[in-house]
Amino acid sequence: DQLISQIAAGEVVERPSAVVKELLENALDAGGSQITVRLEEGGVKRICITDNGKGIPPEQMPLALARHATSKIASLDDLENVNTLGFRGEALASIASVAVVKLTSRTADAAHAWELEGSHLGTVQPSSGAPGTTVNVQDLYYNTPARRKFLKSEQTEFGHCAEVVRRIALARPDVTFTLTHNGRTIDHWIASDMAKRSAQILGEAFAEARIAIDEASGVLRLHGFAGLPTASKSRADCQYFYVNGRFVRDKVLVHAVRAAYEDVLHGDRFPSYVLALELDPALVDVNVHPSKIEVRFRDSRAVHQFVFHAVQRALAQTSA
Ligand code: ADP
Ligand code: MG
Repeated sequence: DQLISQIAAGEVVERPSAVVKELLENALDAGGSQITVRLEEGGVKRICITDNGKGIPPEQMPLALARHATSKIASLDDLENVNTLGFRGEALASIASVAVVKLTSRTADAAHAWELEGSHLGTVQPSSGAPGTTVNVQDLYYNTPARRKFLKSEQTEFGHCAEVVRRIALARPDVTFTLTHNGRTIDHWIASDMAKRSAQILGEAFAEARIAIDEASGVLRLHGFAGLPTASKSRADCQYFYVNGRFVRDKVLVHAVRAAYEDVLHGDRFPSYVLALELDPALVDVNVHPSKIEVRFRDSRAVHQFVFHAVQRALAQTSA
């Protein structure tokens, strides 16, 4: 059983940044409006995420660490209409099988916090702390040295973690995020709106040369900002696309945006953008592999056309 857990964990938590992603999604699902991510040694030594969300009642803490325990899906029908980010109920259990996990949590009406360390078999004990949840993940892969060997340098692993924080922070400008590494504050973004958050994260050059997009057609809506070529830091990872609030890297979407830029600007540079597509959840399949960020559209031609034309029209306005 322990072995099966560790193999499954490899799928969910292939590196520190995957742990950061799962914990951030949980914090957001819990309604946190202030989230702090503390990392040590690229996240391998320690990943500690604190939120001010609704908390976990003490009697549910063991369940939170047990496999296939999710509080987010009540029936199979819910799978079609997933609004929360996590719904498989295996992230915390997987992480706990390859690291030392401590949950500390306090609900709004509780007199004090409670904590649970190790696994669902541990004992829930009184603790202290403000309402919300802290998940502390210590010594990732301490018991699976083979997996630990695949990790890159501390700076590389930290870079992946920081990128996950940026992706999520861009999707949720209404939430305050703080990121520290080895005790130093690296990022601190106060809750604001998409215009400000994207300027904070992509930089002033982007903020000064970008076009706002907000177009809707039927069940599809595309909104966000498309940078003009002068705004490009020519960094490939400054292209952020979201589908129903999730960061995705999808061939159809990337192609549609690229084609629109080529059509209007004829440039060989491919500028930065932050774009969010919203559509009926029934028209897109997000229930893919845990560590992947791909989606499948029911009608990818229609999505491609819509995104292409929306970006093309926005860009054409400025070059006219
Ligand atoms: P999932 O998110 O797929 O439900 P997880 O293993 O990520 O599964 O989390 C298990 C459960 O633990 C969640 O369903 C939720 O009830 C609880 N939980 C985890 N993190 C938090 C948090 N930060 N705040 C409140 N509840 C949490
Ligand atoms: Mg989750």
